[in-house]
This record gives sequence, C-alpha cells and structure tokens, in this order.
Amino acid sequence: MPKKVQAFIDDLSGDLVTLSNEVWRFAEVGLQEGESARVQADYLAKQGFSVKTGSGGMPTAFVAEWGSGKPVIGFLGEYDALAGLSQDVSPTKKPVTEGAPGHGCGHNLLGAGALGAAVALKRYLEESGKPGTVRYYGCPAEETLVGKVFMARDGVFNDLDAAITWHPGSLNSVQVGSSNGVNSAKFIFHGKTAHAAGDPFNGRSALDAVELMNVGANYLREHVIPDARLHYVITEGGGQPNVVPARAQVWYYVRAPRRAQVEEIYDRLMDVAKGAALMTGTSFEVDFLAGCYDVLPNETLARVAMEELKEVGAPKWSSEDHEFAAELAKSLDRRQTEAGLKSMNAPAELFSQTLNTTVVEPLDRGKVMPGSTDVGDVSWIVPTVQVSAACWPLGTPGHSWQVTACSGHSIGEKGMLAAASVMARTAVRLLKDPSLIQRAKAEFSSQVKGQEYRSPLPSGLEPPLGQFKDS
Ligand SMILES: [Zn+2]
Repeated sequence: MPKKVQAFIDDLSGDLVTLSNEVWRFAEVGLQEGESARVQADYLAKQGFSVKTGSGGMPTAFVAEWGSGKPVIGFLGEYDALAGLSQDVSPTKKPVTEGAPGHGCGHNLLGAGALGAAVALKRYLEESGKPGTVRYYGCPAEETLVGKVFMARDGVFNDLDAAITWHPGSLNSVQVGSSNGVNSAKFIFHGKTAHAAGDPFNGRSALDAVELMNVGANYLREHVIPDARLHYVITEGGGQPNVVPARAQVWYYVRAPRRAQVEEIYDRLMDVAKGAALMTGTSFEVDFLAGCYDVLPNETLARVAMEELKEVGAPKWSSEDHEFAAELAKSLDRRQTEAGLKSMNAPAELFSQTLNTTVVEPLDRGKVMPGSTDVGDVSWIVPTVQVSAACWPLGTPGHSWQVTACSGHSIGEKGMLAAASVMARTAVRLLKDPSLIQRAKAEFSSQVKGQEYRSPLPSGLEPPLGQFKDS
C-alpha cells in the first residue's frame, strides 16, 4: 500500500511545487488571497473535485470534494501571507519588494502540501474502489485567526471523520501539544470633546477611559491564571493635546490555554472597560475581531501519523540545500537556537544539525504553544492531527524573512512533499482500518464531553472582509 501512495505524490510533485511557488509569488494577505485560492480551486476542479467557494461568507474560502460515503477525510490548507515579509529566495536579507507581504509562515507550502495529500487520496480511492469522501478545505486568513472559525460556524467540518493538516517548521515530527485560545477585540470609547485649556470641565476624555481600562487590566493580570496572556496597543488616542479626545480606541488580545478560561478573563476585562467608562463619564462599544479555540490534540491520529512519518523519513537534502541553509543560518543566533532546543528537551543529535535530517519523536506533549491557531476550532469539532516537516533550518524564527526565503526554495518544497506523503498515507491507514477512526473518536469524545464546540464568534458577526485591506 504505502508504495502506491508515494507513487501518487511523486507523480504530483511537479504540480505541487508549481502551485506552491505560484502562491509564494502572489503573497496575498488574509482575505485578499484571490489568486492563491483561485489557482488551488482551479487545479482541484481539473482533478475532478467539485468546488464550492465562499464558505463562511469569505470569497477566498472554498471546499473541494471528491468521492462518496464514509469515511469523510478532510485536509486543511492555508495560503495567506504576512505583511512586510517580502524576501527573495536568497540566504541573505533581500526583499523582492520592500515592505510588501511575503510567505513568512510558509503557508504557500502548507496549502500545496495539504492539496497534494487530498489529490493522492482521491487517486487511491479511485484505484482501490473503496468508499470514502475526500475534502480539501481552502482556509483563508489563518494569520488573523479568521478563516476556519467562520468556516466552522458554517458547519463545514461537522460531518468529517478526521481532519489532517500540517505546518511547515524546522522539525520532522508530529504535533501533540496544544496552543492558546484567544479573543481579539477593539474597545472604542466615546466621550465629549472640549478645549483642553478653555473648558476641560465640559469635556469627557475617551483617552482617559482607555488609560484607566489599561490600568485596570494591568491590575487584573495578578488575579488570572499565570498562563494567561493579555496584550494591548492603543490604536487611537486623540489628535492633539489641546483637544479633549472624544474618541479613543484600544486593541486587546486575551489568551489562555483553554477556551473557557479565555471567556472568563474576557468577561472580567469587559467589566474593567465598564468601570473605566463609568469613572470617566464615557461610553464604549466593542469591535470583536477574532476568537479561536486552543488545539485539542488526538493521540490516536498522532500515533498513526508518526508511524507513517517514520516510513517516509526526513526530506533528502542536496548539498546545495545544506549550503543554502548554512548561509542562511549565519543570520540566526546560534546560542538562541541551542537554548531553544534545550528548552524543548531536544535529542542530542539535533544540536549538530542545521537542517533536520532525522525524524523526531514529538517534543510538545503536554505543552501549550503560547501563540494561537484556528486549527484549534476544527480540533474541537473532529479528531485532528497536525504533522510537521522541516522546511527551514533549526532555530529559524517564525514569521521572518528567513522563512519566506526557504518557503520559495527547494528546502521548503522537499518538506512540503514529505508532509503531503505523510498526510496521504495517514488517511489511507484510516480508510484501511476503520477501528483507528473509532478509537480517535472515542478519545475525542471523552476529552470534549461537557465542553462541546460553541463558536467563539458573537452571533451575527460578519467576517472582517474590509478590515485588513491596508495591512
Ligand atoms: Zn502559520
């Protein structure tokens, strides 16, 4: 069996590299991924998939499907770029266009790899004649934690038996850890303007309210769980000092390891905002931008993916790949890389590698990544697994020009093809042995019991289609 799946990936590899490179060049930020979504959707349509665009009310979201019956296996793809991370395929800093977006999180690879796994699974189903449905989810705007959350509210993941995805990284491994849930919201205070010297007594300062809210939030920190994170920036603070600001705005992120904790702290922050408004005689409204769940790992699926990853092995790096990586690694802080590896309890062999040449047992079991991903929402709806494949040197910081460079290089391409193979093989295992899906579901149900998925979005909220136009 596995040989066949590998043959499908080998056969598709040229197309997948082309798709990945096209999306790398488009470098479109969240909800503006018109071209990136189009090339993927067109390709899948040509491969015989039926494609529905516009899931969750987002023009750059789509679901492509092939086959019929159970099981229903979904692959999650992404394709959004990051503002300001334009970079050529060069080991030294050299933007393609200064200040333009770039694939500094490797989502061009992520999308192409997941798409490749979906097409390979379709070919397997076709050849074997087995029942089953394969889906590829074109998920926009991961970086702003929007895409999968709005798609989830639409119910598009509800009938899946398993969701499979990956993220490019520096290790060949499988993720079994979690990540923080988050709420992102802007608080807009409204006061009354006045001449700040002439008649300040007639004014009510919206900026005072923002400052008092921040003071309150900073006192709140001591009385929330230590793992929670509150961050804010003042996005509007008035025009000039001699005018009492009638309007001011502060943007908050509330993060915590579990969704319920995010909501509890967010409610308390809302009380802080109310208090600030009361103290200053102002009013406020909330612009809720995004919210997502923590990731619920599934050990059953992770074990299968890990077994398949061991069969596939690490990408085969050429001497040119090693040279590119060594040159690029000169821009990294070696001591920081080593400290990072130590803190992960990385095996000894990694300390002498620049590009990961081995398959690494999961290092994140029981850990919570401080950042957030909207894969979290899917993982609370259906058993989900996330593979990782080396696409850049160890110690490369996330969201960096170095990642953009590698995501357009054969290093990233090889990682992408390895991940596609691992994901397709994992899916084939699930098709061949239905007891694996049963076990994954039993594990999932026992974890979710009493905390069934509820969209983090306030009812009626529309996707922020205009929000990121200038980002
Ligand atoms: Zn990412």
